[in-house]
Amino acid sequence: MQNGSLPAYDCWFECVRGCGRRYSVFDVVYRCEDCGGLLNVAHDMDALRQTSAAEWKALFDGRTRSNDFPYGSGVWGYKEWVLPVLENENVISMYEGNTNCFRADRLGAQIGLPDLWVKMCGNSHTGSFKDLGMTVLVSAVHQMLKQGKPIRAVACASTGDTSAALATYAAAAGIPAVILLPRDKVSTAQLIQPIANGATVLSLDTDFDGCMQIVKQLTEDPTIYLANSMNSLRMEGQKTVAFEIVKQFDWQVPDWIVLPVGNLGNVSAIGNGFLMMKELGLIDSLPRIACAQAERANPLYLSYQTHFEQYHPVSAQKTLASAIQIGNPVSYERAVKVLQQLDGVVEQVGEAELADAAARADRTGLYACPHTGVALGALFKLLDKGVIKSDECAVVISTAHGLKFSGFKVAYHTGNLAEGSARYANPPVELPADYDAVMAAIDARGLS
Ligand SMILES: *Cc1c(COP(=O)(O)O)cnc(C)c1O
Ligand SMILES: [Zn+2]
Repeated sequence: MQNGSLPAYDCWFECVRGCGRRYSVFDVVYRCEDCGGLLNVAHDMDALRQTSAAEWKALFDGRTRSNDFPYGSGVWGYKEWVLPVLENENVISMYEGNTNCFRADRLGAQIGLPDLWVKMCGNSHTGSFKDLGMTVLVSAVHQMLKQGKPIRAVACASTGDTSAALATYAAAAGIPAVILLPRDKVSTAQLIQPIANGATVLSLDTDFDGCMQIVKQLTEDPTIYLANSMNSLRMEGQKTVAFEIVKQFDWQVPDWIVLPVGNLGNVSAIGNGFLMMKELGLIDSLPRIACAQAERANPLYLSYQTHFEQYHPVSAQKTLASAIQIGNPVSYERAVKVLQQLDGVVEQVGEAELADAAARADRTGLYACPHTGVALGALFKLLDKGVIKSDECAVVISTAHGLKFSGFKVAYHTGNLAEGSARYANPPVELPADYDAVMAAIDARGLS
């Protein structure tokens, strides 16, 4: 099937609370004007169903990493399922997605889970999965500007990765970006990324939730467009992680997806990706989802303890997993809906646990960011508790590149981590430039 022979598909914003209200995806609107619910992108599923599952699979397989713009991108290869109403000429893409997913043999063997896989979503343009959503959002704004919408800037509050992605895609499109960051709560790499891309970087004396409050106020001005994940255009890009995982398993479904969660946008997106594939017949089962939270920022975990009957935002405490230091997640309602459909569980891990989990994984060849450490720590616990079984297939979503968190790793290995027991610390050995001293140090390691 050629790209040109596909029919035109439609999509629109629809209120998550089911009140029936619809908006154009090119309207500047983030919540339902009738009931205040968040908006999801809805697709014309009847039209998509006209193409068979086998045809979709062949189309998506054929586009992977091709040079046929924009379809070689891991997001735009699924354009009909993501944002079909966007003109190809308005796509702002860095050929994001198509990240590697590999079997972590040694780590899997050590923990007694041979079928353990890691999906490296941080091997991306700005070093996190946030690129997947931002290509969609910024492309839509690009089209809105061409339609004459008076947008002056795109803006976000961030724990460091959203802002890096927004600044990059906005710079590629030539759209001004305004970034609100909590001062001293993002890594050095994350702080410098939007600065380098020319964004207006405002470092505020508050936490993420405080930045979010202000950006919501700022974006009441319709000329400043909100790029946080309460804007569901980002979910449409992020859900392609689900498509990629299944495609990488030759269209088979793993038993578990394990991922770190903060604002709860990504779990909603990935869960919806699986639901969409099931609805359109590309898969016939669903994976279970394990959400991992830091103990210090655990509102979803606490709500899960009540079977999601109760929910209270918390005041998030400082955690090494800084990108998920969020106490009042915007997409709570969306995430609970998805978790109920995918038989989800929620686990939490402490600071020492997440740091040791990352370091243990690194010893087997990973280079895990602290958030991936949270996911791994949760995986270890769920395996111990028998929730995840040793003969099951689990895919851990690695959400950011470890190189963005050098400070975390340096502190761990040099014994400067206040929180950690640092069981796997491997400090450098400082020696004079002397052969005997070097040989003695090697011998002292007991290498055989
Ligand atoms: C954003 C982010 C998360 C959490 O995703 P949410 O959609 O906020 O739940 C996890 N890890 C990293 C590295 C992130 O940047
Ligand atoms: Zn509504």
